[in-house]
Amino acid sequence: MSCIFCQIAEGIIPATVLFKDDKVIAFRDIHPQAPVHIVIIPVKHFTNLNDIRGDDFALISYIFSVATDLARSEGIAESGYRIAVNSGKEGGQVVQHLHFHLLGGRQLSGELG
Ligand code: C5P
Repeated sequence: MSCIFCQIAEGIIPATVLFKDDKVIAFRDIHPQAPVHIVIIPVKHFTNLNDIRGDDFALISYIFSVATDLARSEGIAESGYRIAVNSGKEGGQVVQHLHFHLLGGRQLSGELG
């Protein structure tokens, strides 16, 4: 198994896990870009958003519910936050396992790139 995030999901590579169930895992980003920077991934391996079809969109909806719960528990729900997905090479995706960034705790710029 060569995928870093699959290895985090399996507990082979350590991470600071904040949420875990059979569908989703959320952990603190090892190179945080903001005071709160959490990576949220599906347990099942999808390379990026292009792999999501049909019924899998229910999982994306569930990931957003986990993200908004985490925003509340991290205390950034009211001040504001960003949920971002880098998908594919020109989208800036580095790790080839679909993931969502939850960022907050500082004023984020208007730029996405
Ligand atoms: O969207 P992108 O692929 O660029 O983001 C990958 C993210 O995964 C980076 O923010 C990186 O710091 C994070 N990461 C991590 N733990 C790892 C490997 C990468 O939090 N073991």
